Amino acid sequence: MFKSIDNSNYVQYSKPVFDSQASDTENVVDSNIQTDTPKETTNLIMRYLENQAKNNISSPYNVSNPIWTPAFDNCENVKVLDAQGNVVQNVEFKKDGNKLTEEIFVKSINGSTVNKTIVNDGNKKSMELIFRNKKGEITGQENRTYEKLDDDRAISVHNGKTYKISGLSGDVITVEHNSQKKVIDLAKKIQPTLDTIENEPTQKQISQEQREFLINSIKKLSGDIIMKFDEEIDQMVMLDTDEYEGFYRNDNGVRKFKISQKVKDDMTVIHELGHAINCINSEGNGDNRVLWSNNEEFAKIREVEMNNFKNHCKNDSIKKPMEKFIFDDFAKKGFTTYAVAQKDARDEEFAEMTGFINCMDVDWINERVPCLLQFMPDSTQIVYKKNQELF
Ligand SMILES: [Zn+2]
Repeated sequence: MFKSIDNSNYVQYSKPVFDSQASDTENVVDSNIQTDTPKETTNLIMRYLENQAKNNISSPYNVSNPIWTPAFDNCENVKVLDAQGNVVQNVEFKKDGNKLTEEIFVKSINGSTVNKTIVNDGNKKSMELIFRNKKGEITGQENRTYEKLDDDRAISVHNGKTYKISGLSGDVITVEHNSQKKVIDLAKKIQPTLDTIENEPTQKQISQEQREFLINSIKKLSGDIIMKFDEEIDQMVMLDTDEYEGFYRNDNGVRKFKISQKVKDDMTVIHELGHAINCINSEGNGDNRVLWSNNEEFAKIREVEMNNFKNHCKNDSIKKPMEKFIFDDFAKKGFTTYAVAQKDARDEEFAEMTGFINCMDVDWINERVPCLLQFMPDSTQIVYKKNQELF
């Protein structure tokens, strides 16, 4: 989400705020303490306090509140520190003429790191994403570039594979890769009427401007992602709302991508595409969806990571952006059971990582992704491995 420039948000960089010390009561001294002699009692209490202090300081879950600083326009840099003052999350924006840069760094709880650099410069975009293990060895790397050559043509490269895109001045676009050629008529995918934000149909007809908005949101993507979109999505739907919103829905076997006119970034578009990819059965809707993210390995690892996070992180400003991947208060979110909520939470993690791994638009501060990467490194790696097969 965009953070508005509001000075009340800023925390002095030199004075990080830690939330977790006082409320951490995990290592409570057991009750037989009362039968000990005063000296032993003192020793036990000391040991307890030392342990607690040590646990608090060394716990990777003990982090500062996010520290926001202004970058430019409505973008803000954000930094999160651990108890020793080391940077564990850093999102930094730079503007140099038309050239915008976003640098993301995350050090996760298991010592692995993530670096992502996005550059947007006029008709050119690029991203480099590097995953390293705790020894600093590279465990995964993604490179993307995109260049708009003229009104009609663009070229995108993903990990050395080149995609030529043409037809951008109209609605029928062609993506060429090696000897393969795919012609996609985006106008044919437009649903002629709008849907409400509650995913109900309306009688309102889509305007020419809204039609173009939907088509443009796909046209500007990389060649491999446009092809994936064509495979996974039958209809593009304009939402009748001023809210910033996007959905993937399967309406009676018709796979629909729905966005509002507020959605300008490729992160949201690819996140919704991620939901589409994650849904394995083509008719699945609601509770009948068969999701890739329900596989046992992913579900199990996520459960462990989530429980550790819930038990050890006491910082509300860090827990809040993680809600979307945890749905702990499932009833409040409208889920009937914890299990049903978890199905959605897993789906959200898959979609969010698919967006993060592939998006290359600067202009979007998303607090959720750095938190997810920091506290759930093993499950996010599983999604990354799956993504390597997809794109
Ligand atoms: Zn989602």
